[in-house]
Amino acid sequence: MSSLPYHCVCCIIPSRMLRQLAEAAHLSEEERACLLDQCELSAHLRGQRSVMPTLAATQRTGEQRRTIYDARHKTTLPGRVVRTEGAAAAKDAAVNQAYDNAGVTYDFFHTVFQRNSVDNKGLRLDASVHYQRNFNNAFWNGQQMVYGDGDGRLFHGFTAAIDVVAHELSHGVTQYAVPGGLVYEGQSGALNESISDVMGSLVKQWRLQQKAADADWLIGAGIMAPSVGKALRSLADPGNRTLTWSGDDQPKNMADYIQDGDVHSNSGIPNHAFYATALALQGHAWEKAGPIWYKALGLLTPNASFADMARATAQAAVLLYGSDTAEQYAVQRAWQLVGVQLESS
Ligand SMILES: [Zn+2]
Repeated sequence: MSSLPYHCVCCIIPSRMLRQLAEAAHLSEEERACLLDQCELSAHLRGQRSVMPTLAATQRTGEQRRTIYDARHKTTLPGRVVRTEGAAAAKDAAVNQAYDNAGVTYDFFHTVFQRNSVDNKGLRLDASVHYQRNFNNAFWNGQQMVYGDGDGRLFHGFTAAIDVVAHELSHGVTQYAVPGGLVYEGQSGALNESISDVMGSLVKQWRLQQKAADADWLIGAGIMAPSVGKALRSLADPGNRTLTWSGDDQPKNMADYIQDGDVHSNSGIPNHAFYATALALQGHAWEKAGPIWYKALGLLTPNASFADMARATAQAAVLLYGSDTAEQYAVQRAWQLVGVQLESS
Protein backbone atom coordinates (compact mmCIF):
# COMPACT_ATOMS: atom_id res chain seq x y z
CA MET A 1 0.00 0.00 0.00
CA SER A 2 1.81 3.06 -1.25
CA SER A 3 -0.30 5.42 0.86
CA LEU A 4 1.14 4.02 4.09
CA PRO A 5 3.72 6.27 5.71
CA TYR A 6 7.30 5.08 5.66
CA HIS A 7 7.95 2.71 8.51
CA CYS A 8 10.86 0.69 9.70
CA VAL A 9 11.48 -2.51 11.56
CA CYS A 10 13.30 -0.86 14.41
CA CYS A 11 15.04 -3.21 16.83
CA ILE A 12 16.03 -2.05 20.33
CA ILE A 13 19.32 -3.98 20.21
CA PRO A 14 21.46 -2.95 17.23
CA SER A 15 22.86 -5.81 15.12
CA ARG A 16 26.28 -4.32 15.78
CA MET A 17 25.88 -5.02 19.52
CA LEU A 18 24.78 -8.63 18.95
CA ARG A 19 27.73 -9.18 16.63
CA GLN A 20 30.13 -7.70 19.14
CA LEU A 21 28.72 -9.80 21.98
CA ALA A 22 29.06 -12.90 19.81
CA GLU A 23 32.73 -12.13 19.31
CA ALA A 24 33.57 -11.07 22.84
CA ALA A 25 31.59 -13.19 25.26
CA HIS A 26 32.74 -16.59 26.45
CA LEU A 27 30.15 -18.47 24.51
CA SER A 28 29.76 -21.98 23.24
CA GLU A 29 29.77 -22.37 19.47
CA GLU A 30 26.05 -22.99 19.65
CA GLU A 31 25.38 -19.78 21.57
CA ARG A 32 27.60 -17.80 19.22
CA ALA A 33 25.80 -19.19 16.18
CA CYS A 34 22.46 -18.31 17.79
CA LEU A 35 23.51 -14.67 18.33
CA LEU A 36 24.79 -14.36 14.78
CA ASP A 37 21.52 -15.85 13.51
CA GLN A 38 19.69 -13.11 15.37
CA CYS A 39 21.83 -10.45 13.60
CA GLU A 40 20.82 -12.02 10.32
CA LEU A 41 17.20 -12.05 11.35
CA SER A 42 17.33 -8.37 12.36
CA ALA A 43 18.77 -7.50 8.96
CA HIS A 44 16.15 -9.66 7.28
CA LEU A 45 13.33 -8.02 9.25
CA ARG A 46 14.58 -4.58 8.25
CA GLY A 47 14.53 -5.67 4.63
CA GLN A 48 10.92 -6.75 5.05
CA ARG A 49 9.65 -3.32 5.90
CA SER A 50 7.95 -2.47 2.63
CA VAL A 51 6.18 -5.79 2.15
CA MET A 52 4.69 -6.33 5.61
CA PRO A 53 1.19 -7.76 5.31
CA THR A 54 -1.54 -5.93 7.20
CA LEU A 55 -1.90 -7.80 10.47
CA ALA A 56 -5.00 -6.31 11.92
CA ALA A 57 -7.51 -3.66 11.07
CA THR A 58 -7.06 -0.45 13.05
CA GLN A 59 -9.63 0.34 15.65
CA ARG A 60 -10.38 4.02 15.51
CA THR A 61 -12.38 4.28 18.69
CA GLY A 62 -10.40 7.02 20.41
CA GLU A 63 -9.96 4.71 23.37
CA GLN A 64 -7.12 2.54 24.43
CA ARG A 65 -7.38 -0.90 22.83
CA ARG A 66 -4.55 -3.22 23.80
CA THR A 67 -4.29 -6.79 22.59
CA ILE A 68 -1.42 -8.99 23.72
CA TYR A 69 -0.58 -12.12 21.76
CA ASP A 70 1.64 -15.09 22.56
CA ALA A 71 3.85 -16.00 19.59
CA ARG A 72 4.65 -19.26 21.44
CA HIS A 73 8.34 -19.12 20.51
CA LYS A 74 7.62 -19.01 16.79
CA THR A 75 8.17 -16.26 14.22
CA THR A 76 4.60 -16.21 12.94
CA LEU A 77 2.85 -13.02 14.01
CA PRO A 78 0.84 -12.08 15.85
CA GLY A 79 0.16 -15.47 17.53
CA ARG A 80 -2.63 -16.42 19.93
CA VAL A 81 -4.59 -13.73 21.81
CA VAL A 82 -3.79 -13.94 25.53
CA ARG A 83 -5.02 -10.64 26.97
CA THR A 84 -7.44 -8.04 25.62
CA GLU A 85 -8.32 -4.56 26.88
CA GLY A 86 -9.84 -4.62 30.34
CA ALA A 87 -9.27 -8.34 30.86
CA ALA A 88 -7.86 -9.61 34.14
CA ALA A 89 -4.12 -10.05 34.51
CA ALA A 90 -2.68 -13.19 32.95
CA LYS A 91 -0.46 -15.67 34.76
CA ASP A 92 2.35 -14.82 32.36
CA ALA A 93 4.45 -11.86 33.62
CA ALA A 94 5.62 -10.90 30.11
CA VAL A 95 2.00 -10.58 28.97
CA ASN A 96 1.13 -8.26 31.87
CA GLN A 97 4.28 -6.17 31.47
CA ALA A 98 3.64 -5.68 27.75
CA TYR A 99 0.05 -4.74 28.56
CA ASP A 100 0.83 -2.38 31.45
CA ASN A 101 3.76 -0.62 29.81
CA ALA A 102 1.82 -0.07 26.58
CA GLY A 103 -0.89 1.44 28.78
CA VAL A 104 1.50 3.85 30.52
CA THR A 105 2.92 4.86 27.12
CA TYR A 106 -0.56 5.47 25.75
CA ASP A 107 -1.46 7.53 28.83
CA PHE A 108 1.73 9.57 28.54
CA PHE A 109 1.07 10.57 24.93
CA HIS A 110 -2.58 11.23 25.70
CA THR A 111 -2.04 13.26 28.87
CA VAL A 112 1.11 15.16 27.92
CA PHE A 113 0.62 15.69 24.17
CA GLN A 114 -3.14 15.06 23.79
CA ARG A 115 -2.24 12.38 21.25
CA ASN A 116 -4.70 9.54 20.75
CA SER A 117 -2.44 6.49 20.34
CA VAL A 118 0.44 6.16 17.90
CA ASP A 119 -1.48 7.38 14.83
CA ASN A 120 -3.49 9.99 16.81
CA LYS A 121 -6.62 8.17 15.62
CA GLY A 122 -6.86 5.56 18.35
CA LEU A 123 -4.80 2.87 16.65
CA ARG A 124 -5.09 -0.34 18.65
CA LEU A 125 -1.91 -1.36 20.38
CA ASP A 126 -0.98 -4.90 19.49
CA ALA A 127 1.99 -6.68 20.98
CA SER A 128 3.33 -10.21 20.69
CA VAL A 129 5.45 -11.72 23.46
CA HIS A 130 7.62 -14.86 23.44
CA TYR A 131 8.77 -14.25 19.87
CA GLN A 132 11.14 -17.02 18.78
CA ARG A 133 13.35 -18.84 21.27
CA ASN A 134 16.12 -17.03 23.19
CA PHE A 135 15.48 -14.00 20.99
CA ASN A 136 17.63 -11.08 22.16
CA ASN A 137 15.57 -8.25 20.78
CA ALA A 138 12.32 -6.31 20.68
CA PHE A 139 11.01 -4.39 17.71
CA TRP A 140 8.19 -2.37 16.16
CA ASN A 141 7.44 -3.79 12.73
CA GLY A 142 5.36 -0.90 11.44
CA GLN A 143 2.15 -2.31 12.85
CA GLN A 144 2.78 -3.90 16.19
CA MET A 145 5.28 -4.52 18.99
CA VAL A 146 7.22 -7.76 19.10
CA TYR A 147 9.19 -8.97 22.14
CA GLY A 148 11.72 -11.75 22.50
CA ASP A 149 12.41 -13.27 25.92
CA GLY A 150 16.18 -12.81 25.76
CA ASP A 151 18.44 -15.82 26.12
CA GLY A 152 18.52 -15.43 29.91
CA ARG A 153 22.28 -15.19 29.76
CA LEU A 154 23.02 -11.91 28.00
CA PHE A 155 19.54 -10.37 28.03
CA HIS A 156 16.71 -10.91 30.53
CA GLY A 157 13.79 -9.95 28.34
CA PHE A 158 12.39 -6.62 27.25
CA THR A 159 8.79 -6.24 28.42
CA ALA A 160 9.71 -5.13 31.97
CA ALA A 161 11.58 -2.02 30.81
CA ILE A 162 9.09 0.82 30.32
CA ASP A 163 11.60 2.85 28.30
CA VAL A 164 12.13 -0.06 25.89
CA VAL A 165 8.38 -0.46 25.38
CA ALA A 166 7.95 3.32 24.97
CA HIS A 167 10.97 3.50 22.63
CA GLU A 168 9.42 0.94 20.33
CA LEU A 169 5.92 2.42 20.39
CA SER A 170 7.43 5.83 19.69
CA HIS A 171 8.73 4.50 16.38
CA GLY A 172 5.05 4.16 15.58
CA VAL A 173 4.41 7.74 16.67
CA THR A 174 7.27 9.02 14.46
CA GLN A 175 5.92 6.99 11.56
CA TYR A 176 2.67 8.98 11.76
CA ALA A 177 3.66 12.32 13.34
CA VAL A 178 6.41 13.15 10.83
CA PRO A 179 4.65 13.75 7.51
CA GLY A 180 5.72 10.74 5.42
CA GLY A 181 7.73 9.21 8.28
CA LEU A 182 11.51 9.38 8.81
CA VAL A 183 13.73 7.30 6.52
CA TYR A 184 15.65 4.79 8.67
CA GLU A 185 19.18 5.48 7.44
CA GLY A 186 21.73 8.28 7.70
CA GLN A 187 20.84 11.33 9.80
CA SER A 188 17.09 10.90 9.38
CA GLY A 189 17.50 7.34 10.69
CA ALA A 190 19.55 8.53 13.65
CA LEU A 191 16.86 11.15 14.32
CA ASN A 192 14.24 8.39 14.17
CA GLU A 193 16.21 6.46 16.80
CA SER A 194 16.82 9.56 18.89
CA ILE A 195 13.14 10.52 18.99
CA SER A 196 12.36 7.03 20.32
CA ASP A 197 15.07 7.33 22.99
CA VAL A 198 13.82 10.79 23.98
CA MET A 199 10.21 9.61 24.26
CA GLY A 200 11.30 6.37 25.96
CA SER A 201 13.18 8.31 28.60
CA LEU A 202 10.33 10.82 29.00
CA VAL A 203 7.78 8.07 29.58
CA LYS A 204 10.01 6.54 32.25
CA GLN A 205 10.55 9.94 33.94
CA TRP A 206 6.82 10.69 33.76
CA ARG A 207 5.92 7.40 35.39
CA LEU A 208 8.49 8.01 38.13
CA GLN A 209 7.52 11.72 38.34
CA GLN A 210 11.21 12.61 38.17
CA LYS A 211 12.69 15.99 37.47
CA ALA A 212 15.18 16.22 34.60
CA ALA A 213 18.03 16.70 37.04
CA ASP A 214 17.10 13.53 38.98
CA ALA A 215 16.52 11.13 36.07
CA ASP A 216 19.11 8.51 35.02
CA TRP A 217 18.63 9.30 31.31
CA LEU A 218 19.52 5.70 30.44
CA ILE A 219 17.88 3.51 27.82
CA GLY A 220 17.53 -0.19 28.56
CA ALA A 221 18.72 -0.24 32.16
CA GLY A 222 17.84 -3.63 33.62
CA ILE A 223 17.47 -5.62 30.39
CA MET A 224 20.97 -7.10 30.33
CA ALA A 225 23.23 -9.21 32.49
CA PRO A 226 25.90 -7.30 34.45
CA SER A 227 28.53 -9.07 32.31
CA VAL A 228 27.12 -7.25 29.26
CA GLY A 229 26.71 -3.84 30.88
CA LYS A 230 24.29 -1.51 32.62
CA ALA A 231 22.31 0.02 29.77
CA LEU A 232 22.23 0.49 25.99
CA ARG A 233 22.63 4.24 25.82
CA SER A 234 22.91 7.37 27.96
CA LEU A 235 21.35 10.65 26.85
CA ALA A 236 23.22 12.47 29.60
CA ASP A 237 26.63 11.29 28.42
CA PRO A 238 26.50 9.38 25.12
CA GLY A 239 29.47 7.05 24.64
CA ASN A 240 30.30 6.86 28.36
CA ARG A 241 30.97 3.13 28.63
CA THR A 242 31.00 3.05 32.41
CA LEU A 243 27.35 4.13 32.31
CA THR A 244 26.37 1.81 29.46
CA TRP A 245 28.30 -1.11 27.90
CA SER A 246 31.77 -1.82 26.58
CA GLY A 247 30.97 -1.23 22.91
CA ASP A 248 29.06 2.05 23.27
CA ASP A 249 30.37 4.20 20.40
CA GLN A 250 27.82 7.01 20.55
CA PRO A 251 29.21 10.45 19.70
CA LYS A 252 27.75 13.48 21.47
CA ASN A 253 29.15 16.10 19.12
CA MET A 254 29.23 16.52 15.34
CA ALA A 255 33.03 16.55 15.55
CA ASP A 256 32.82 12.81 16.31
CA TYR A 257 29.99 12.01 13.87
CA ILE A 258 30.48 8.53 12.41
CA GLN A 259 30.23 8.59 8.62
CA ASP A 260 27.94 5.73 7.51
CA GLY A 261 27.56 4.91 11.21
CA ASP A 262 24.73 2.90 12.72
CA VAL A 263 21.55 4.89 13.36
CA HIS A 264 21.79 3.77 17.01
CA SER A 265 25.25 5.36 17.25
CA ASN A 266 24.87 8.81 15.71
CA SER A 267 21.58 9.24 17.59
CA GLY A 268 23.80 10.20 20.54
CA ILE A 269 24.13 13.71 19.07
CA PRO A 270 20.41 14.67 18.95
CA ASN A 271 19.86 12.68 22.18
CA HIS A 272 22.35 14.89 23.97
CA ALA A 273 20.79 18.03 22.49
CA PHE A 274 17.48 17.03 24.05
CA TYR A 275 19.10 16.29 27.38
CA ALA A 276 20.87 19.67 27.39
CA THR A 277 17.60 21.46 26.55
CA ALA A 278 15.74 19.66 29.34
CA LEU A 279 18.44 20.37 31.91
CA ALA A 280 18.57 24.04 30.95
CA LEU A 281 14.80 24.40 31.28
CA GLN A 282 14.79 22.55 34.63
CA GLY A 283 11.74 20.94 36.20
CA HIS A 284 10.12 17.99 34.46
CA ALA A 285 11.50 17.27 31.00
CA TRP A 286 8.03 16.49 29.65
CA GLU A 287 6.67 19.92 30.53
CA LYS A 288 8.74 22.10 28.19
CA ALA A 289 11.51 20.26 26.34
CA GLY A 290 9.18 17.33 25.52
CA PRO A 291 6.45 19.45 23.90
CA ILE A 292 9.10 21.34 21.87
CA TRP A 293 10.51 18.08 20.48
CA TYR A 294 7.05 16.65 19.90
CA LYS A 295 5.84 19.73 18.04
CA ALA A 296 8.99 19.69 15.89
CA LEU A 297 8.03 16.26 14.50
CA GLY A 298 5.29 17.84 12.41
CA LEU A 299 7.83 20.24 10.87
CA LEU A 300 10.17 17.53 9.55
CA THR A 301 10.36 15.79 6.19
CA PRO A 302 11.33 12.11 5.58
CA ASN A 303 15.01 12.86 4.90
CA ALA A 304 15.47 15.43 7.68
CA SER A 305 19.03 16.07 8.86
CA PHE A 306 20.20 17.01 12.36
CA ALA A 307 20.29 20.66 11.24
CA ASP A 308 16.67 20.34 10.10
CA MET A 309 15.77 19.00 13.56
CA ALA A 310 17.67 21.87 15.17
CA ARG A 311 15.71 24.39 13.12
CA ALA A 312 12.41 22.54 13.70
CA THR A 313 12.88 22.48 17.48
CA ALA A 314 13.91 26.16 17.54
CA GLN A 315 10.82 27.00 15.49
CA ALA A 316 8.64 24.83 17.74
CA ALA A 317 10.01 26.62 20.81
CA VAL A 318 9.01 29.97 19.28
CA LEU A 319 5.58 28.67 18.31
CA LEU A 320 4.98 27.37 21.84
CA TYR A 321 6.71 29.99 24.00
CA GLY A 322 7.46 32.98 21.77
CA SER A 323 10.71 34.46 20.46
CA ASP A 324 13.48 35.76 22.68
CA THR A 325 12.36 33.38 25.38
CA ALA A 326 14.39 31.15 27.68
CA GLU A 327 12.91 28.16 25.84
CA GLN A 328 14.12 29.34 22.42
CA TYR A 329 17.62 30.09 23.75
CA ALA A 330 17.83 26.78 25.59
CA VAL A 331 17.14 24.93 22.33
CA GLN A 332 19.64 26.99 20.35
CA ARG A 333 22.37 26.57 22.97
CA ALA A 334 21.78 22.82 23.17
CA TRP A 335 22.33 22.35 19.42
CA GLN A 336 25.40 24.58 19.61
CA LEU A 337 26.72 22.38 22.41
CA VAL A 338 26.52 19.27 20.19
CA GLY A 339 28.03 21.10 17.21
CA VAL A 340 24.94 21.28 14.98
CA GLN A 341 24.54 24.55 13.08
CA LEU A 342 21.04 25.96 12.97
CA GLU A 343 21.75 28.01 9.85
CA SER A 344 21.73 26.27 6.47
CA SER A 345 25.20 25.68 5.12
ZN1 LIG B 1 14.68 2.02 17.84
